[in-house]
Parts: sequence; C-alpha cells; structure tokens
Amino acid sequence: MSQSPANKPLNINADRTAGRLTIEWADGHRSQFDAVTLRLLCPCAFCQGEAGRPGWLDTNPTLSSIQTQLVGARLVGSYAVAPTWADGHDTGYYEFESLRFHCPCTECTAARREPS
Ligand SMILES: [Zn+2]
Ligand SMILES: [Zn+2]
Repeated sequence: MSQSPANKPLNINADRTAGRLTIEWADGHRSQFDAVTLRLLCPCAFCQGEAGRPGWLDTNPTLSSIQTQLVGARLVGSYAVAPTWADGHDTGYYEFESLRFHCPCTECTAARREPS
C-alpha cells in the first residue's frame, strides 16, 4: 500500500492541556482537531456501529467532559493513530487517510462542500 504525501503524517502531537490533536502532513498541510471533533469521529465499532447496526454516536449522546478529554495518542502501525480518552476509551483506530479526509480547517471544509 503506497501512501501519498497528503496521507502521510510527519508529526503528530497530542496536546493534553489544550485538548487538541495536531497533525503535520508530508505535503505541508496541517490539521488540527479539537477533542470533541476528534471524539465524534471515533471509528470503532462501539461508537460507529457495525454490520448495519447503529453505534453509540448514532444516538446523539451528550458527551461528558471525561469522554472528550484527550489523555494521549499512540501510533497503530504506520497507518493510524489511536487516541486515549479520560474515560478509558482507546479502541478507535483513526486511519491517517480518514483524518486527512475529515481535516476541519477552513480550506478542507470548503473543499468537501464542492462536488468533486
Ligand atoms: Zn469509539
Ligand atoms: Zn485541512
């Protein structure tokens, strides 16, 4: 599997104090996810559901401060990062490709609205 520079992180920084995950990509782009945005993107089966069954996030839960408190992040192989949340949840493997796709910056948000 080849990685394009747009999906290749050079630097990943989990800022616990600010509650932010910042990724610098090989193509020079920078994505900054605040903790709530990141938590809502959690791709694990519990949060997003699986095999057609709705997940926890589909129930529009009210996220508690503990559920959206970023306590760390670890690399999963060379393809994903798994944040750890203060409630102990750490099973969401966020693939780089998906993180880049969901980049919350103004530029990327605008680009996602354009039909491509
Ligand atoms: Zn999850
Ligand atoms: Zn962006």
